[in-house]
Amino acid sequence: MADNPAKPGAAAKPAKPCPICGKPAAAASRPFCSDRCRDVDLNRWLSGSYAIPAREGEEDPE
Ligand SMILES: [Zn+2]
Repeated sequence: MADNPAKPGAAAKPAKPCPICGKPAAAASRPFCSDRCRDVDLNRWLSGSYAIPAREGEEDPE
């Protein structure tokens, strides 16, 4: 008697949802659902790291 049921292949693990829109991620563009969402995320990253504070006047050259 097998009290150790072998699990054939990968169990149906639910794919992580796209962090952008929450749709199921596509294998081609994990962890996003599409290239579009990947682009959106990338843009968020870039705009986050390159967050340039708007300087309006207020320049004080010593
Ligand atoms: Zn998405």
